[in-house]
Amino acid sequence: MTAAAERVAGVMERYEAVIGIEIHCQLRTASKMFCGCSNAYADAPPNTHTCPVCLGLPGTLPVINRRAVEHVLAAGLAIEATIPERTQWERKNYFYPDLPKGYQISQYAIPLAANGRLAIETSEGPFTVRITRAHLEEDTAKLVHADAVRAGSGAGGRTSLVDFNRSGAPLMEIVTEPDIRTAEQARRYAEELQLLLRAIGASDADMERGQMRVEANVSLRPRGTEAFGTRVEVKNMNSFRAVERAIGFEIERQARALDAGEPLSMETRGWDDGRQATYRMRSKETSEDYRYFPEPDLPPLHVDAAWIERVQAALPELPAARRRRYAALGITGYDAAVIVADPGMTAAFEAISAAGPGLPAKEVSNFVTGAHARAAKATGFNAAGTAGRSTPEGIAALLAAIADGSVSRPKGRELLDRHLADGTPATELVAAAGPGPISDDAALLGHIDAVIAANPKAVADYRAGRPVIGFFVGQVMKATGGAADAARVTTLVRERLDGGA
Ligand code: ADP
Ligand code: MG
Ligand code: ZN
Repeated sequence: MTAAAERVAGVMERYEAVIGIEIHCQLRTASKMFCGCSNAYADAPPNTHTCPVCLGLPGTLPVINRRAVEHVLAAGLAIEATIPERTQWERKNYFYPDLPKGYQISQYAIPLAANGRLAIETSEGPFTVRITRAHLEEDTAKLVHADAVRAGSGAGGRTSLVDFNRSGAPLMEIVTEPDIRTAEQARRYAEELQLLLRAIGASDADMERGQMRVEANVSLRPRGTEAFGTRVEVKNMNSFRAVERAIGFEIERQARALDAGEPLSMETRGWDDGRQATYRMRSKETSEDYRYFPEPDLPPLHVDAAWIERVQAALPELPAARRRRYAALGITGYDAAVIVADPGMTAAFEAISAAGPGLPAKEVSNFVTGAHARAAKATGFNAAGTAGRSTPEGIAALLAAIADGSVSRPKGRELLDRHLADGTPATELVAAAGPGPISDDAALLGHIDAVIAANPKAVADYRAGRPVIGFFVGQVMKATGGAADAARVTTLVRERLDGGA
């Protein structure tokens, strides 16, 4: 354990953390939430994706983006949430320069999805996080803090500019119950949610690009007590690692304050990645401060059963189901998780499995997660086999040759290297490797008997119970130029020696 981890462990004997996570993610749509502006503004010059609606000019009217609604419905169904027949839009009122309307159109009383759950795996076992709600809203503009002189004020110092490209972009907010108890659970929840959002195509959910923004509400209570303590909201964590670190830091900071008898205040804190610490940003608003009320410019939104059915039918295989399916094929739970967490590995696994029906899944998963996958990436193999000259079919054929023993494992590795390097067809490689001695016990036994005859002392050692089996196998592998299956050789050597030949 690191010193920091030990300190946290000490603290956690006395206190229990209570954590709830709020995640905002940008939805993958062609246009913005309530206007026709393109939502693909990521690399555009400032204020080039704007119109009167998303600039917040008076007298304009919002129009609901159907695709954004469907993304939230899909996410809601994927987390087994309840979808109400009728939801409404509400104004969340506050003042800030990135919100010229003075309000954000959001959902409050009736979210588009409620009472969901997401199961995660942690180092301490499986855990299910209850999800309170998922709702739709619009993003704010972006403040750019710039040099005042460059910005033209001439005053020196700094000034802030507003870029409205992000204003009105569709956002989904997903809020959990305060179920989470450790920083690791929080990180795992965020990771699993990212995987899910990507799988259903709702969001690219890249944390570093601000497409997925994680906020953690953290409080402590003495172990064995029920009542929640004063919570602090932590923002500005732009990686999963930062989520775990920031929560760990906050737990320790609050415990120290509580131990010292200092009262905690309900506040918003930011995570400083450089200092690896949270700092106070402002005191926290309560929802009453926002004076929510129904949006008069938009009608309530009705979601009928047929619409829900269409969205449900269009859902792809979800990460959890995919992991279960892989595990049922005989892949370890660990490997299944590694593959499903990586779209490239998943695509490769699917393509190679499809190209080699009957191929043991374990063989494919070892290839996909192992050193060869890295070699394959380096040489341009992709799932479709189009980028490099190696193909899923070629790889599947070589893996099959290894699995059925027509080439030995070391030889097979060599052939895979060749296929990945220059795309030599698998059939050619296998044919050139010659008939595999492995499938031919008689040929192997010839080598084995020769080795036994030449090493009477080792035979005596074996019979005396000494661990010399590896020596025999090594000698046989050498005699066959490495082209034998070591496992088969081991079995045959044992049989020969035990049989008293
Ligand atoms: P707000 O609208 O101020 O963000 P919410 O009631 O929506 O507040 O809660 C935000 C998040 O805080 C939720 O994930 C919730 O589970 C969590 N939360 C509420 N109370 C606490 C608490 N005492 N400690 C930790 N998390 C909490
Ligand atoms: Mg909040
Ligand atoms: Zn617009």
